[in-house]
Amino acid sequence: MNQTPLDILRTTYGFRDFRGKQEEIIKHMIDGGDALVIMPTGSGKSLCYQLPSIVRTGTGIIVSPLIALMQDQVNELVQMGVRAAFLNSSQSPQEQSMVEQELRNGKLDMLYVAPERLVTPVFLALLDSIQPALFTIDEAHCVSQWGHDFRPEYTRLSILRERFPHVPLIALTATADDPTRKDIAEQLHLQQAPVFATGFDRPNITYSIQNRERGLDQLFSFIRSSYKDESGIVYCQSRKKVEDIATKLTEAGFNALPYHAGMSAIQRNHNQSKFMMEENVIMVATIAFGMGVNKPNVRFVVHLGLPKSLEAYHQETGRAGRDGLPADALLLYNLQDIVLARRMISRSSTNRAIIEQHKFSSLLGFVETTECRRNVILSYFGEHRDEKCGNCDTCLYPVETWDGTIAAQKALSCVYRTGQRFGATHLTDILTGNLTKRVSEHEHNHIKTFACGKELGKETWKGVFRQLVALQMLESDPENGSLRLNDTSWLILRGEKTVSLRRDSLSVTAVKHVSKK
Ligand code: ADP
Ligand code: ZN
Repeated sequence: MNQTPLDILRTTYGFRDFRGKQEEIIKHMIDGGDALVIMPTGSGKSLCYQLPSIVRTGTGIIVSPLIALMQDQVNELVQMGVRAAFLNSSQSPQEQSMVEQELRNGKLDMLYVAPERLVTPVFLALLDSIQPALFTIDEAHCVSQWGHDFRPEYTRLSILRERFPHVPLIALTATADDPTRKDIAEQLHLQQAPVFATGFDRPNITYSIQNRERGLDQLFSFIRSSYKDESGIVYCQSRKKVEDIATKLTEAGFNALPYHAGMSAIQRNHNQSKFMMEENVIMVATIAFGMGVNKPNVRFVVHLGLPKSLEAYHQETGRAGRDGLPADALLLYNLQDIVLARRMISRSSTNRAIIEQHKFSSLLGFVETTECRRNVILSYFGEHRDEKCGNCDTCLYPVETWDGTIAAQKALSCVYRTGQRFGATHLTDILTGNLTKRVSEHEHNHIKTFACGKELGKETWKGVFRQLVALQMLESDPENGSLRLNDTSWLILRGEKTVSLRRDSLSVTAVKHVSKK
């Protein structure tokens, strides 16, 4: 008697129900479709290819890059009574030929194999002689240079679609932002296949992003107002900053500890276990901290400065609120961060720089958005939503925008008239008519734009420059951070493009707490 997928889920796996989109994906695969599946780690991707492999006639061929993982999965399946095996270089020639024999005799539901073996002529010929039930490409981001773990041998997997056009193919990965996702689809000839992206939302996390003016004060008042005796993580951009902020928090009476890769392993482990065991430790850390840390009641994650990408931001903020209770993700940033990030990017190899630049632009789009933050994050992962979340700063406090066209023209012409050699602080001094030593040295009090922007004030001008750079209406020099015009700047200067700017809010509190009282 034929078992339904639900029967197998219950009898073989011992689970009661499918999760998320598992059932939909499994049905789609059993019916012979192709698919690109993007679900976070731990959300149950394996069932999406294992169940169809069991149900469909023939053997499911699973490509997986990690030998250790392969072995674990196969052991588990065999214990459950599923006919699974693997082929890799850790086996003796005898073991390998036994597995091949089973495969030829149709005795396997699933065969795990490394990518470099799969594409050999011998193995492809073997596949010709059997009936593959479906092809699975696990860790599919390895096929893309846009991803974080590119493996050249993965690119050759495109041969599967060419050589076996009628065998369904499923590619799965835990993280794939928009460019990576498109690249995977293209490389594996899956452009026509549906994308199943799900599981990226963390509804209990409140996202808010604010301009960093006096970062330390902002951090203090954020923690004091809402999270006095709770656990949290504060991410900083450098080891030095970590030490500095940890010291200042401690001096202010908080229970803060530093964590970065420059510390001894003993000290790091010590701090990490205090964070894990105690209930009110603030970990001040570089991004070296967090992998494998699974503390359920982390109440807040603060970024002092910009993360590397939206993917990194999602992962780092995702360490808050694992217990499902309300948690906060606060990001404090300013123009300096953009300048710094652009400098780092310009130092990568050309190929990498293009990729990183692209990812960074998406991040800037996110931090300056006037739309629901959650929806911007989710759509970056392919999970599109229309309704607003009601639990991010832009939802709770809709952003006020203003027509910044004239301000932008003044700012840009100030850049131009000073020879495109200065940074935002000096330019702001000129615009507000602040006669500093530097201004008079360069005789910038005699140019036409001197004091032409008095009406707006220093903070507003800083916000104008930050947004112009973030919106790519002005460039920052990767080496010294000076500002210079680009094509878009000229459109604005000529009055051919208008500029809408967001009004920065200056008070920092945990948004959630304000709103729910
Ligand atoms: P991923 O590959 O996405 O990281 P796994 O497939 O390894 O995730 O699944 C993560 C965990 O969730 C495993 O322990 C798995 O047995 C369990 N799991 C998956 N689907 C279900 C389900 N429908 N019901 C209960 N547990 C499940
Ligand atoms: Zn929202």
